[in-house]
Formats: sequence, structure tokens, C-alpha cells
Amino acid sequence: MRVLLVEDDELLGDGIRTGLAQAGFAVAWAHDGEEARQALAVEPFDAVVLDLGLPKVDGLTVLRKARREGNRVPVLILTAVDSVDDRVAGLDAGADDYLAKPFALAELQARLRALVRRSKGTGEPQLRHGRVVLDPALRTVTFDGRPVELSSRELATLHELLLNAGRVLSRSQLEEKLYGWGEEIESNAVEVYVHHLRKKLYPGLIQTVRGVGYLIPKDAR
Ligand code: CA
Repeated sequence: MRVLLVEDDELLGDGIRTGLAQAGFAVAWAHDGEEARQALAVEPFDAVVLDLGLPKVDGLTVLRKARREGNRVPVLILTAVDSVDDRVAGLDAGADDYLAKPFALAELQARLRALVRRSKGTGEPQLRHGRVVLDPALRTVTFDGRPVELSSRELATLHELLLNAGRVLSRSQLEEKLYGWGEEIESNAVEVYVHHLRKKLYPGLIQTVRGVGYLIPKDAR
């Protein structure tokens, strides 16, 4: 899952980026409102964490513009602890949720998971495909109830394919979901992750659609 983090405070931004990466999110970090606006105009994100007080263009303006342009990405705003006005203005401008600073990273991670879940139209926290169950909060995968050891990127690859079951994802779409800004992408990384997933789970789980990408079919249940 790919998150746009918009925060001008270096220390706080760095902490949030690290926390989100640990929870399996690929993070793109914009340091001002203008950078955020440009990113939102051209890149797809699964969620946005938006500070309101930003250089160049303030967070509310970024949010209003994105919504006017039809961008429906889930947005969580970061507000000052005592500012009811900010929270109300943010929610009315199209934010889906908010957190008051200071907050616990675990809560931010959980709220983002909930926002993504709702935006994908599923209420169930766990993703299932036959005998495979992925728990995004615990970052675990089981097969027939037995835990399967996966690397962080293998888990993220499986997560994306399960979230989009029934749809073919191209290699570059998967890469976008797995890597944040500034992270080096090895050229055949996605192929390697898929290969490992087939070996650790079962060969037929992920289908290759030649020349297009990869697919986990919708669960037959
Ligand atoms: Ca700020």
C-alpha cells in the first residue's frame, strides 16, 4: 500500500515515515503543499496523511483542490490537539479521519488500515483466499492455519494482489505499491517475490497474465 505523507516538520515526518514503513506501507514524503499537490495530480495513493500547517500551500487548500478534481483517496489529517476548528474544517473539506498531535504511531497505522479497508469496500480486517489468510495488522500469513514465513516485501506483494483479487496488476503497478520515494527498485524484484510466494504457499495461487502482469482470482467461496 502506498501512502502520501505530507509533513514539513523533519523530525515528526521522519518518525512517521519510519513507523509507516515498519507497518508495511510504501511512503512518499512531500515536505510542502505544492509538492503534495503535484504528487496527488499524477500518482495513485491508497491513503494520504496530511498536516494542515504547511509551507507554500496549506493542507486544507491541498485537500479541497484534490476533492474538487474528483480525487477520492482516503485522507487523514494531522491537527493540533486543542484545535476543534481545524478538525471541523478538515472533515468538512473532505478529510475522512483525523489525529491530534502528539499521537501514537500504532494508532496512525491502525487508522490507515481501517481507511484503506473501507475504501476497498471490505469490512473484514483479514484477507482470505481459500486456505490462505493474511492479517494486515499482525503482518502474518497462514496457510491451512499454519504460519508461513514471508519477507516484508513478499507480504506486501501478496497483500496488494489479495486487495485487488480478480484484477490483473502490472509489474509497475506492483512496484509503485511496494516502494516509497527514493527507494531503489531492483529490476526483477517483483518476479522474485511472486516466485517465492508460489513456492512458500502454492504454485497456482498467483497467475501470470503474459505481457500484462499478475493476478489472484477472486475467491470462489
Ligand atoms: Ca506543519
